[in-house]
Amino acid sequence: MVRSIVKLAQCVRMPGSRPPHARITDSCMNPPATGAAGAVLFRDASVLDSSGAPPFRADVRVEGQRIAAIARSGAARQPGAATVIECRGATLMPGLIEPHAHLSFVDQATPFAFTAIPVEEHLLLTLKHAKLYLDQGFTSCFSAAATKPRLDIVVRDAIARGDHPGPRLRAASVQLTVTGGVGDLRQLHLDPGEAMYTLPCDGPVEFRRAAREACREGVDVLKIVPSGDTSTPAVPSARTLMTDDEVAAVCEVARAHERVVAAHARSAESIRMCVRHGVSVVYHATCADEEALDLLESRKAALFVAPALSVTVTRLRDAGKFGLPASDALKRRIETDLERTIATMKALKARGVRVLPGGDYGFMWNPHGANARDLTWFVDLLGFTPMEAIVGATRHGGEIMGMGEELGQVREGFLADLLLVDGDPLADLSILEDRARLLAIMKDGTFHKHPPARLTGR
Ligand SMILES: [Zn+2]
Repeated sequence: MVRSIVKLAQCVRMPGSRPPHARITDSCMNPPATGAAGAVLFRDASVLDSSGAPPFRADVRVEGQRIAAIARSGAARQPGAATVIECRGATLMPGLIEPHAHLSFVDQATPFAFTAIPVEEHLLLTLKHAKLYLDQGFTSCFSAAATKPRLDIVVRDAIARGDHPGPRLRAASVQLTVTGGVGDLRQLHLDPGEAMYTLPCDGPVEFRRAAREACREGVDVLKIVPSGDTSTPAVPSARTLMTDDEVAAVCEVARAHERVVAAHARSAESIRMCVRHGVSVVYHATCADEEALDLLESRKAALFVAPALSVTVTRLRDAGKFGLPASDALKRRIETDLERTIATMKALKARGVRVLPGGDYGFMWNPHGANARDLTWFVDLLGFTPMEAIVGATRHGGEIMGMGEELGQVREGFLADLLLVDGDPLADLSILEDRARLLAIMKDGTFHKHPPARLTGR
């Protein structure tokens, strides 16, 4: 599976195609318009490079799509034109990466809302959310499922072509579940028609066919739902729904098509199955037992875990406004899920497993647009340091995108996905939640949000 992730990255850009590294230049007095065509010099930034090292003062030069040079303060400069951004110690850091994105979720209270939206309106909403993620500094998203089969695919491609603003996107399939599994909304007395939130499959033959069809249409990620979920009382979190041969069938298709598999896996047995068969991304991992923890640790170089804290934390904190949870008993089960998730994530962190922030946004009580708060919860609930939370949302984010060699760090040769931040996120992570404090947002060397005129001398 590691090999398939690497190949995915190579499809995006073959090694050796990077522009030659340039040298830091002096400013010109009348800078050209900013953009990918001209060089950009971030002068005197506090560089938080996401290697894990403390920030350092430096000039960072961008040419084309990439970071061409980083010159620490005091290093010699070469002459040459560039648009100069006077950072005056503002933090320059990698763009944030959301590893559990559902751009086609529509901030709804129940999954039934998905099926009510025609595909045309649904596409417009998905594009709107894509721009919103970039507006809040998320320059990449790894999708954890679309709600109609081609929504992620067409949005990914529109963004990649430059037709619409948004993060670089790993496009996912709809969730592949079982009859009676999480998200199977069918009712015997109603014709389900074409409306689909998840795709129920039964047996390896049906899972294999659905996975192959999704690959044919162009997904990067096959999403499966092998366990239950507390939000669906009929199939609680600790229950395992997919069988071993069903999980194996999807993973087999992923290997053949060089895609990755991501799983909603809350029960211990579902986690164990996922690891055994080569699932790359394990979401939630709520009820992991010792055997599941050992298995996750044994493949920690090849997989990622993302708890999606926000959807659970806010369901307890904010969902009451919408009449949820529906009962005290359900609330207690959700609280238990959160406690288990916290214990599991602490254990995985101690074992060196990559645990990434990212919060399953797109529900009424957990709407799109506040995604950076998961970093703070990683500190408050899981005992991460602010640096560890940032590395999880950037460097490890680049790795989950299959682009760890060129995405998620401020390094020479890496893609210029950069945030210029007013303040020090290591001292106060909540700065990242405040869009006004994001002075500039650059993706692929092009400003999505231009720095204020006071920083460019214009
Ligand atoms: Zn999700």
